[in-house]
Amino acid sequence: MSFVLRSFSNGLDGVFIGACHLNECNYITHGNYQAQNMVLLVKRIMEHVGINPGRLRLQHVSGAEGNLFAESTNEFVKQIKELGPLGQAEGEVSRVEMKARLAEVMKLVPYIKVEKREKLRARLTTPEECAAHFTLEEVADMLTNVASYWIDPTKCQACMTCARRCPADAIISAKGEVHIVEQDKCIKCGTCYSVCPPRFAAATRLVGEPVPPPLPEGERTVIRKKKEA
Ligand code: SF4
Ligand code: SF4
Repeated sequence: MSFVLRSFSNGLDGVFIGACHLNECNYITHGNYQAQNMVLLVKRIMEHVGINPGRLRLQHVSGAEGNLFAESTNEFVKQIKELGPLGQAEGEVSRVEMKARLAEVMKLVPYIKVEKREKLRARLTTPEECAAHFTLEEVADMLTNVASYWIDPTKCQACMTCARRCPADAIISAKGEVHIVEQDKCIKCGTCYSVCPPRFAAATRLVGEPVPPPLPEGERTVIRKKKEA
């Protein structure tokens, strides 16, 4: 997903992905189903940010189908030439504006993968299933009502589990102090929310409400919970 979005951000006019035919993957993971789902989702994201989804194509082709590969790439190049440079078919959107729109989505890729993880694992076999799998409305909702992660200072017991697992080093962590999510570093992967021990339940997922300000330095000492008798 990141590679595709970055390609458009870097100014490519089209992205062509070749994948084995469904059920012909040599690996038990059958990654070509996941690639198909990823392309379906990215096409909806492209629509949401105002990019013609025809600029992205997934072609199932085997190593023995040289003719199909040549025909499909030639056809795709022709289609992209007809669309013109990225931004032109999109209503003369400037390169700077397009890059800014894509940058907003690119920083949400970990969040998008968490939000849509079940659908990204699906095994779709018919064009009808593919067409209905992701809707523009659900993508707009996902990208408009983005979750934020916050640590409730009245519950945090400074066990440090979240800070150790955060992939973006976005949690201010100190022994005996309430942990703080640095919102500008957070990539919204949801890991802190998943790993915070249920007996503390301090890491919180917020949707549609502002993130409370962090406690000032010097006021972060944890108040230890008393063990229940
Ligand atoms: S959601 Fe939590 S674990 Fe993920 S980047 Fe943000 S602070 Fe780190
Ligand atoms: S895992 Fe939960 S209790 Fe532990 S430091 Fe993080 S937010 Fe606090």
